Amino acid sequence: MDLASYIRNIPDFPRKGVQFKDITTLLKNKEAFRYAMDSLATLLEPKQADVVVGIEARGFIIGAPLAYLLGCGFVPVRKKGKLPAETVSKSYQLEYGVSVLEVHKDAIEPGQKVLIVDDLLATGGTTKAVCELVEELGGNIVGIGFVIELEFLKGREKLQPYQIYSLVKL
Ligand code: AMP
Repeated sequence: MDLASYIRNIPDFPRKGVQFKDITTLLKNKEAFRYAMDSLATLLEPKQADVVVGIEARGFIIGAPLAYLLGCGFVPVRKKGKLPAETVSKSYQLEYGVSVLEVHKDAIEPGQKVLIVDDLLATGGTTKAVCELVEELGGNIVGIGFVIELEFLKGREKLQPYQIYSLVKL
């Protein structure tokens, strides 16, 4: 199946110059959504992970069904102030300004095998911050999965030495 054909490009969203990759057109199609999730599960199954970490918000849509398919637990990483119990947090650079991501302190046991997932890899800054959070909790990152990878932004290089998996390279 040509998954790329289900991804909608929105020019100049959320601001001028950005080509926004809209996955809602993939998610609403039952064959494409199932194919995407099954393909990610097939790629990542050999990692034998314990937990899938999903990044708010589109990483939740991808991460939860992936965790279910792999028989893993699911851990949400959220924007500052959303998680109710004790958290660890990490600030990271956005194109304009900084943002803060948080995870519950007891979300990952030291030594657990962790897969990190999000919808799209751009510069890799967001995922890098999540890697630091996971490692601060003692998690062992065994792979990082995306539906889409914007190769020209070279996020993969920023995420060395982790193993990166993506379904659609644009
Ligand atoms: P980055 O930290 O640069 O890798 O950005 C990754 C995060 O921003 C992901 O959570 C994506 O959902 C979102 N993102 C960045 N660029 C785009 C884009 N062109 N289209 C859709 N989402 C994007």
